[in-house]
Amino acid sequence: MPSTPEFQQTLGKVAGFSGTALHTGEKVTLRLHPAPVDHGIKFKRKDLQDEPTIDARIENLKTVERATTIGEGSVRVHTVEHVLAALWAMGVDNAIVEMDANEPPIGDGSAQAYVDLIRKAGVVAQEEPRKFFDTRDTMHVQSKTGALLVLLPDDKFRISCTQAGPNNKFTQFLSMEVTPAAFEREIAPARTFVFYEDVKTLMDKNLIKGGSLENAIVVRGEAVLSKEPLRFADEFVRHKILDIIGDLALVGRRIRGHVVAVKPGHASNAELTRLITREQTRRSAVAVSRAVPSGDGGLDTDQVMQILPHRFPFLMVDRIISFETETKCVGVKTVTINEPFFQGHFPGHPVMPGVMQVEAMAQVASILLFKLAKATSRIGYFMSADEVKFRKPVLPGDTMFIHAELTKSRGERLAKAKCHCVVNDSIVSEAELMFTFLDK
Ligand SMILES: [Zn+2]
Repeated sequence: MPSTPEFQQTLGKVAGFSGTALHTGEKVTLRLHPAPVDHGIKFKRKDLQDEPTIDARIENLKTVERATTIGEGSVRVHTVEHVLAALWAMGVDNAIVEMDANEPPIGDGSAQAYVDLIRKAGVVAQEEPRKFFDTRDTMHVQSKTGALLVLLPDDKFRISCTQAGPNNKFTQFLSMEVTPAAFEREIAPARTFVFYEDVKTLMDKNLIKGGSLENAIVVRGEAVLSKEPLRFADEFVRHKILDIIGDLALVGRRIRGHVVAVKPGHASNAELTRLITREQTRRSAVAVSRAVPSGDGGLDTDQVMQILPHRFPFLMVDRIISFETETKCVGVKTVTINEPFFQGHFPGHPVMPGVMQVEAMAQVASILLFKLAKATSRIGYFMSADEVKFRKPVLPGDTMFIHAELTKSRGERLAKAKCHCVVNDSIVSEAELMFTFLDK
């Protein structure tokens, strides 16, 4: 339910297992540890001096050939995508992935071993709300090799994926909402698959010492070679979805959006992850720089409440940042998921109702009227709104800047204000408001 806040989660206790590393073929032990709120997921190299850690963030991405490698300084961790996918999809926001080698145990080439481990450790809620990336505008990346990833607004995290092999053989399609239950049942057991032509040179060079039919499906011509039969008729596209989840986990925030992927690979997944992270960084920067009061004579919440009779949930202004002139000012309202109107507007797709934005404009304009008239014996009534336009949805988590300017006052009884609301540097709504004064 989007109307109840989701909390961050970590593991209930430490849990580990040992297995073979794909590239070196050596034995490796992996242990998952709980971590505090806002820690994110970090990998720890227990085998190196000082036991360095690497943040599972896109900034640390090093290479995307065949698998996803992250690193800091000279320290590397390879093939992080399956363990990351399992942690992320099973709802773990904060964890330490400790290993005594540069790669997790490959297991059977799926995320099953990691899901089992997370189940063993347990998943527990923490006291801080989760951070989300809400997709507002459609974003996309495409590559020369034919990969195309589109991210569409959605109140859930969904993936619709089309996979196609050489000459479009083994073309498969699957669309799903990514939930812990769906991941565990539909995605986690799907194994890595490779086309023989692609791995032949690697095998000849002995670069995948740990690779075998025990941990990958090999496709040679029409033949599908694996130790056990296919687990799903469309196992390949399921594994592609697994890799997308693991690579997108490097955003470090939960995504609300619908990923439509055609022939995706680690490189294009990483490109989309980068694009999302860049957009998130831009949004955070705007929110921080705009939230700092500028100009003089702003009003804090208490002062606003001394002027306006409105109270929660009808107070639509947190504070006035500044009065540019006597007739012009900017108010701010942080729109949280806890606003009562989100519960009914609409469940599953929360957007701030347009009339509440008009109400916010009216309240900011009223503060100007009050300052101007200082007519405590009179009270301004909101009479009409003209030229009302709603340009973009306002979503939970947005910081809305409400601009109001008094344009004319006709006689003693009427006043007009031109207003607009801004979120992330774009105008989301605008209106011309008319007020009348009546004696109290
Ligand atoms: Zn994979």
